[in-house]
Amino acid sequence: MKDDTQLVAVGRNKKYTGSAVNPRIARASTIVFDSVEEMLAAGREKDNGAEFYGRRGTATTFAFTEAMCELEQAAGCYVYPCGTSAITASLMSFLSAGDHLLVVDSVYEPTREFCDGTLARYGVETSYYDPLIIPEASIRENTKVIFIESPGSLTMEVQDIVGVVAAAKAHGITTIMDNTYATPLNFKPLAVGVDISVHSATKYLSGHSDVMLGVASANQAHWPQLQARSYELGLCASVDDIYTTLRGIRTLGVRMREQASNAQLIAEWLAEQPEVDHLRHPNFSSCPGYEYFARDMSASNGLFSVVLRQNNPAAINALVDGMRHFKIGFSWGGYESLILAASEFSARRTATAWDESKGLIRLSIGLEDPQDLIDDLNMAFVRYREVLR
Ligand SMILES: *Cc1c(COP(=O)(O)O)cnc(C)c1O
Repeated sequence: MKDDTQLVAVGRNKKYTGSAVNPRIARASTIVFDSVEEMLAAGREKDNGAEFYGRRGTATTFAFTEAMCELEQAAGCYVYPCGTSAITASLMSFLSAGDHLLVVDSVYEPTREFCDGTLARYGVETSYYDPLIIPEASIRENTKVIFIESPGSLTMEVQDIVGVVAAAKAHGITTIMDNTYATPLNFKPLAVGVDISVHSATKYLSGHSDVMLGVASANQAHWPQLQARSYELGLCASVDDIYTTLRGIRTLGVRMREQASNAQLIAEWLAEQPEVDHLRHPNFSSCPGYEYFARDMSASNGLFSVVLRQNNPAAINALVDGMRHFKIGFSWGGYESLILAASEFSARRTATAWDESKGLIRLSIGLEDPQDLIDDLNMAFVRYREVLR
């Protein structure tokens, strides 16, 4: 089955849809049983989509987890109230006091805060590694998990995922990857040996900037532990958000392709502007590690960053403020274009240095006509030059 056909088909088992096209929204806390035996059987059948208690999910949840398992080629999949909780629960599922954790230095900032905060308080030590190396030399006897994110948040370094996985496997270390950028459509981490693939479904999977949701998919060896420990943590997600995300998945292919092609045009225009130092877009050779992107991932999307020759906050603010079509905001992967002044956030790293003399803006390109967006950026650079003059 081709990718677009699969996106339409997944999770539409008749036991979830009944006679409708889409799975039912099954809202429930209490599930009632016809007999004691039926109740006990439902309790045992954790993986077969048996409804037991609302926290474990209803038919809507199981339609979504079945869909994600197929897309990720996973043995099991757990749903969380947001991407951050999917990350924190995945880490907590495989780490104990006294363990060491290796995390890529370009990691999403809240992941770093959790490692340096909660995990440190519970006796897990984290060290960070350069996204452009395989952190073999940093592996210790008590290293239990390597956390990958590729491309990295804001600065977009692409990792040699295959190389990192090989080093981890040689030392019996679990690998967890934040795969939010690629989505299962453009990269399947489990297929190259990553143990757990994590997504903020808040981004492209749901795609309309109106849902918070997270998901983690595991291979056979890691699924029982991820499932049991995530359930212990009491994490579950609203079936309305799950339904909305499953609806988003139907159009994931068309949205991402269109946004990627809009972003490509805009990136090419930006590369020509004299104030631009270089692009952090994984299709461009100026993006560190772009050769791994070409090797591993099937396509880009609407997200990329722009490094400016100067880090002049007043000029950057003038550029970002007063946009007509781009909105200022965190998050990305929705249908609408966003812009973010990111110089300040990209400096928070410990294993590598970020050149703070350069400015950074991040764009998430939406489904607007790309010429309107270029016109908007053209005016933004007029404002930028005005301040620098
Ligand atoms: C947004 C994001 C997250 C966190 O997701 P939330 O749903 O906002 O909690 C995690 N990783 C990456 C790469 C993200 O961009």
